[in-house]
Amino acid sequence: MNENKIIESFMSIDIHLNDRQVEQFSIYYKELMAWNDKINLTSIVEENAVLMKHFVDSLLSSKVIDYKNVKRLIDIGTGAGFPGIPLKIVYPHMEVVLLDALNKRITFLDHIIDQLNLKDIHAVHGRAEDLARTELRESFDLCVSRAVSQLNVLCEYCLPFISINGLFISYKGSKTIEELEKSENAIHILGGKVESVVDDVSLDSITNRGFVIIRKEHITEDRYPRRAGKPIKKPL
Ligand code: SAM
Repeated sequence: MNENKIIESFMSIDIHLNDRQVEQFSIYYKELMAWNDKINLTSIVEENAVLMKHFVDSLLSSKVIDYKNVKRLIDIGTGAGFPGIPLKIVYPHMEVVLLDALNKRITFLDHIIDQLNLKDIHAVHGRAEDLARTELRESFDLCVSRAVSQLNVLCEYCLPFISINGLFISYKGSKTIEELEKSENAIHILGGKVESVVDDVSLDSITNRGFVIIRKEHITEDRYPRRAGKPIKKPL
């Protein structure tokens, strides 16, 4: 991956990378492509497309939240590490947990964490519904999630992991407002409150990127999330 292009693309969203971070993005791209031949990680492969639609897109949420104040972050349904790994590269002070239900992707993430020499970051295998019943419950000040499910389902996956006063940032697209209307019940039941909706932070090469930001105001009742599979079959 062209290093000047990495620097310029991040500068377009006011992020100034140091040499080490540029090198980390370059290694990430190389490994992503090498592993993509063996396991299905991404359909986006062209260099500039990966740079914009995966790496820069992951950091677009820095326009709506100040990551310098975030201590513990969880990325639910991280896949090949988006947005969690780019966020960790740019904000290395954060403790990060990457969670995914597919074990092959966890193997890739462990490899990437090692190759990039990242510290205080763990890839965890399992479904959000099950892992929300472990010590991970209500232990994060920020939860992020991109391209995993519709918002009402996602709230049941994500809100149980967030501590009181923490935030959930959902990376959303063009149907943000419509999805939000259908999610009011879920957000309320799970202890959240919509803090803001940012419905367009698109760049030339990233279209339809919006965010829903939900604050956790109350503890999530013990009965949520419901058993694995139920949130998607019967959204709240
Ligand atoms: N967030 C990544 C991105 O934006 O490129 C990956 C998106 S991929 C379309 C959705 C991912 O969510 C898959 O890797 C899948 O295994 C994971 N996933 C879906 N439902 C899940 C659940 N209930 N718990 C944990 N992971 C889940």
